[in-house]
Amino acid sequence: MPSPAADALPRGTWDTHVHVFEPTSHPYSSTRSYSPVEAPLTALLNFSNSISSTDSPTNLVIVQPSPYGTDNSCLVDALDDLNSNTSNVNARGIAVVDISSATKDTLQELHRRGVRGLRINLESSANNDFTVERLESMIAESAAAISFLPGWVLQLYIKGHYWDALLPFIMSLRVPIIADHLGGIVGSSKNSGLTDPLAQPGYTSLIHLAKAGHVYIKVSGLYRVSNKAPGFEDLQVIVHDLARQVPDQLLYASDWPHTGEAKDRISRPHDAPERFREIDDRLVISNLRAWVGESTWQKMCIDNPVRLFL
Ligand SMILES: [Zn+2]
Repeated sequence: MPSPAADALPRGTWDTHVHVFEPTSHPYSSTRSYSPVEAPLTALLNFSNSISSTDSPTNLVIVQPSPYGTDNSCLVDALDDLNSNTSNVNARGIAVVDISSATKDTLQELHRRGVRGLRINLESSANNDFTVERLESMIAESAAAISFLPGWVLQLYIKGHYWDALLPFIMSLRVPIIADHLGGIVGSSKNSGLTDPLAQPGYTSLIHLAKAGHVYIKVSGLYRVSNKAPGFEDLQVIVHDLARQVPDQLLYASDWPHTGEAKDRISRPHDAPERFREIDDRLVISNLRAWVGESTWQKMCIDNPVRLFL
């Protein structure tokens, strides 16, 4: 008998980055930059079941996607459903709030419903060039606002080069940071001038921050940092190095339902329905598992997310 399928997630896995889009019951923000087709909670659970080696879905961290702006109601409704007694899924959320107006009561209520962090997303709109000073003040303001909440994190989706400039600032933060989608570190297919992907801007600083325990790195959204679908083999050298250097700081995530990319939205009306990408998740899973090795695979699927989210 073969051991559990190489392309399925082990029992107890946390898929730490998924989204729910239910535009009929929860309309998108009027200031959104794109309008994804629907991806309801039922479809998320079917997907999660399909990549699990057990007969039930994985545990889930649902992340507020940009089309909902700061209206987290779709997210917390999904958390309520999943955390009800009838579900055997543990679910947590990462929300987006307007930090200048969010009250302690608002944040406390999000905590009660299962939210455990806030997201700062610079990459979903085409207009994404931020100065380091602006980014630091956004992070500092968010970190101060959530400091009274136990177990909360800040999740950053930024380009990889920012880690160099952010290094001393993040070393002084008390709130853990989750770096989305390999921390924005790209494979050679995304940058033909890159002879050594491990020498690209930001990488050494990202490793330094992870070694110091300040940053967790989400191994997710490989199609955002590589053009080598379906297997994204140019990322092997990076993922392997992450596993060797910071195995206790990695998190697995599918990034379902695989939303598109900001650069494709520049000339498209914001209300045109946008379809999701077709991704071979089982191939991605078997590649990641082979690249990181069995012990790190168990850590990134189970032990590390349990430490953060359970
Ligand atoms: Zn995502």
